[in-house]
Amino acid sequence: MLRTANIIGSGPNGLAAAVTLAQRGVAVTVYERNATLGGACSNAEVTLPGFHHDLGASAFPLGVSSPFYRSLPLADHGLRWIHSPAPLAHPFDDGSALTLEPALDATAAQLPAHDGQAWRSLFSSAVRNWPGLVEDLTQPLLRLPRHPLAMAAFGASALWPAQLLASTLFEDQRTRALFAGVAAHSVLPLTSVASAATGIVLTAASHAAGWPVAGSTVPGVYGAQAISHAMASLLYDLGGRVLLNSEVGQLRDMPQADITLLDTSVEALLRIAGTELDAGYRQRLQSYKHGPGIFKIDYALSRPIPWQAAGCRRAATVHLGGSLAEIAHYEQDAFYGHLDEPSSTRPFVLLVQPSLFDPSRAPAGQHTAWAYCHVPNGSNIDRTQAIEDQIERYAPGFSDCVLARRASSAAALEAWNPSLIGGDISGGAMTLGQILFRPTRTLYRTSNPRLYLCSSSTPPGGGVHGMCGHRAALAAWQDHGPR
Ligand SMILES: Cc1cc2nc3c(=O)[nH]c(=O)nc-3n(C[C@H](O)[C@H](O)[C@H](O)COP(=O)(O)OP(=O)(O)OC[C@H]3O[C@@H](n4cnc5c(N)ncnc54)[C@H](O)[C@@H]3O)c2cc1C
Repeated sequence: MLRTANIIGSGPNGLAAAVTLAQRGVAVTVYERNATLGGACSNAEVTLPGFHHDLGASAFPLGVSSPFYRSLPLADHGLRWIHSPAPLAHPFDDGSALTLEPALDATAAQLPAHDGQAWRSLFSSAVRNWPGLVEDLTQPLLRLPRHPLAMAAFGASALWPAQLLASTLFEDQRTRALFAGVAAHSVLPLTSVASAATGIVLTAASHAAGWPVAGSTVPGVYGAQAISHAMASLLYDLGGRVLLNSEVGQLRDMPQADITLLDTSVEALLRIAGTELDAGYRQRLQSYKHGPGIFKIDYALSRPIPWQAAGCRRAATVHLGGSLAEIAHYEQDAFYGHLDEPSSTRPFVLLVQPSLFDPSRAPAGQHTAWAYCHVPNGSNIDRTQAIEDQIERYAPGFSDCVLARRASSAAALEAWNPSLIGGDISGGAMTLGQILFRPTRTLYRTSNPRLYLCSSSTPPGGGVHGMCGHRAALAAWQDHGPR
């Protein structure tokens, strides 16, 4: 009988695992090494007083679509999804921008006729079937899908390399660039098999459910912390506990429980529980691969970013990378560690400007922004100038708005949260092989029937959606719950 569970780590997946088990009457204790809960889904004043910065995730197309989050009364625990009028903008050197609009047709209408039609054909099935598709995509992919037709339609395009798909389907350089920017969230070279999948999933999510930032109705809770706060508050109502400042070095650091779920990296699973795992399983874990890291900057700004393109002022998320060719070159260099290549001076930058749509993030009239680019795993390279040059390219005068900045290298991110190995924010490379078998063929189950991995190093992988933790907890319940 399953009565007690220990969970190591209070990231979105640790909290999702905790809530799933507590809902079934299990007494859950979460151990978190940091002083704040939430892992890479948290917020703090790290530049100037009154400026509240998302330390990890900041935009939540997967969070708002998550079948598990949608099943929970998170609004009753303070969570608000805040949607900008356009989910995303992608500016160009001529001062114009394309935007992802909430409606598929409105996005298509901005494109030349051929590309508008191609945009509709690529995304309409996924958008129409979104709730069913997202359910299938957030479970281990080698299971029989519940919506086989929608999955087959998705798979036909998703398996393509993003660069090839964009150049085959779209004629206009700007349409190709818009798709490439979304696909680059895969953190894969855009020539990789299945790199189109992320582009299709995130674009369909934005048309079907939105690409919001997070906010809270609870005083003193800001941004991404609202998600973690709501999950923890629900957990407390269900009788669970979270112990902060409680790093687990060994399993014996915790009182014994019927099962333990680790919301950690594969490396931490080996370190904490290696002696409890069999040699073959340990060896398979050792061949698990990480993707590139990131270099991130948090900004306190005196005024909104002075974008040339009006479309950029309507979107919380902005992609700065120019053309498909530029984005593809940079992502290739970051993945293979060639950041001295000429194209690498112009990184692909992902920027979020939440305070335009959530004034609680900064003092009146002032703003926050969050920007990062991919860098080779573990790199200590400083990309501050390169990121700011890219922002200035589309928003001349940006530097004059900067009141303060905090830059975090890949190594600094790992020091804050040891699950971000070498600055990898996805819990392991999202290659096709590692999406299917993440981190091994047994997925959440380890070689020890009492130990489970529940972090983003399990399916469906990186992002704030809680589905790794939820599915890991369901696997544990299936193994140890009532027969
Ligand atoms: C800078 C950045 C930007 C991102 N942007 C986005 C975004 O915009 N949208 C999105 O959806 N996703 C984004 N992500 C990815 C997303 O945040 C992660 O995929 C998600 O947080 C993974 O959740 P998790 O629970 O698996 O792990 P984590 O969030 O990493 O949480 C793991 C927790 O375990 C704790 N821990 C680790 N080891 C121990 C130990 N031994 N003892 C006790 N505690 C331990 C850590 O301190 C941490 O709190 C971003 C991530 C980062 C870092």
